[in-house]
Amino acid sequence: MADFFDYYCDACDKPFCERIHVMNLVLNNVDSEFCLECLAKSTEKEPDAFYHWVLDYVMERECFKTPWEKFNPTPCPRITDKTCFCPIAS
Ligand SMILES: [Zn+2]
Ligand SMILES: [Zn+2]
Repeated sequence: MADFFDYYCDACDKPFCERIHVMNLVLNNVDSEFCLECLAKSTEKEPDAFYHWVLDYVMERECFKTPWEKFNPTPCPRITDKTCFCPIAS
């Protein structure tokens, strides 16, 4: 599990996966990166609504779509506690 997450939220310290990292890039978060919940909170959306909103954006842009699709989300440990939505569209 420790090997799966390369990133940690700068607000709450929660680990997150590659696709959440891509979402941070979409939102132009370069110096600090945040987990799905904290990102959603910053846009005043629910995490799943936020996720789908970002996903639409990612799918329209090759520079985000490529790293997004390269990532294999199936082992993401956060899928089971529903704090990551990374497997929804692959
Ligand atoms: Zn967080
Ligand atoms: Zn994930």
